[in-house]
Amino acid sequence: MDLEFDQQHVWHPYTSTLNPLPCYPVESAEGVYLKLEDGREIIDGMSSWWSTIHGYNHPELNQAAKNQLDKMSHVMFGGITHQPAVELCRKLVDMTPEPLQHVFLADSGSVAVEVSLKMALQYWHAKGERRPKFLTVKHGYHGDTFAAMSVTDPNNSMHSLYKGFLPEHIFAQSPECPFNGEWNEDDVLDFKHKLEANHSEIAAVIIEPIVQGAGGMRIYHPTFLKRVRELCDQYGILLIADEIATGFGRTGKLFACEHAEISPDIMCIGKALTGGYMTLSATLATKHVADTVCSGEAGCFMHGPTFMGNPLACAVANASLELLQKGHWHQQVADIEKQLAESLPEIGKLEKVKDVRWLGAIGVVELHEPVNMAEIQKAFVDNGVWIRPFGTLVYIMPPFIIKPQELSRLTLAILRTLQ
Ligand SMILES: *Cc1c(COP(=O)(O)O)cnc(C)c1O
Repeated sequence: MDLEFDQQHVWHPYTSTLNPLPCYPVESAEGVYLKLEDGREIIDGMSSWWSTIHGYNHPELNQAAKNQLDKMSHVMFGGITHQPAVELCRKLVDMTPEPLQHVFLADSGSVAVEVSLKMALQYWHAKGERRPKFLTVKHGYHGDTFAAMSVTDPNNSMHSLYKGFLPEHIFAQSPECPFNGEWNEDDVLDFKHKLEANHSEIAAVIIEPIVQGAGGMRIYHPTFLKRVRELCDQYGILLIADEIATGFGRTGKLFACEHAEISPDIMCIGKALTGGYMTLSATLATKHVADTVCSGEAGCFMHGPTFMGNPLACAVANASLELLQKGHWHQQVADIEKQLAESLPEIGKLEKVKDVRWLGAIGVVELHEPVNMAEIQKAFVDNGVWIRPFGTLVYIMPPFIIKPQELSRLTLAILRTLQ
């Protein structure tokens, strides 16, 4: 592979063109292993950013893609429908909380978030109210497109760079009570005050249920989410749950909302939807939201991506959801969680470690100081694992199929590298 061309011409995520860090060429992947061009096989601790839950090169997912490829890889979705999309939407309506009945398919997580925000705005417009604001919490992450970024943590996503263009929304203090800790009502006070003070302007609350992902890998108390739902109900404000990272079993529940036994008005999903095979996302809405949106001036929801409902992506998503429906993920994620609970506290004793936490198939090691990316990345690869930290966070969310000895190699590599 021409790595020099890559360095000089290919933009990688959040990477400088002036001083690009080295990239590792992957030739193929199988199960939990990435095979590098130099022949080394390393264990993927990231599931390619939350997505590859069943592992790479999965025979059933491969077959689903091949079967669909021979029928049609794509056809427009305006005025046309097809079996892979209908089947997928039926599965999603069945799997998600009961009130969510209408499915809007889109291309990526960020677009699913854009769609959810537009739905909320059109909802209020149809009701004859001007509600231009969204309320969220700090340390959230909802994507990199503009509206999604506008509800992402203002410091992490450097809102200052886009001042004057980026809409300004309302940020409450992020939840502090940890998932398994004691609940303290004060935790939700700032959120409550901001909601009360601005409720007549707020279209919706958007939040990642239970786990704040890319904004800090924070795992918070389910009661916070319960209170958010109660407050939204009290003021008649819509609740958008961004389950793009947490959906499909990652936190030990099929959807993280279930930890708090709540149901949102709108839900965004993506990432693991196709088992990590290709990009696809969806925004689900209740019948009330969908019908209200479409009762307004436009008479429809004003969005329609070119590749909406891409049959190839839908077919693979159907195969991925069928694997989930077999139910093995439940035990797999529980086993991963148990093993993380046994191995992470040891890492937590290291001096440079500030905190360790875990939930389901997510393990987080938070350091006092940010890592040296180039050094630590090389150390991990030399230890036979793929773990990509950011800032002070070294974290893993492996494929559900990972074996105990492979997971041990991930946590041992973290221990050794930080020692
Ligand atoms: C990754 C992510 C997104 C954005 O998804 P993309 O597919 O990268 O656009 C949005 N919300 C959450 C919670 C995410 O983790």
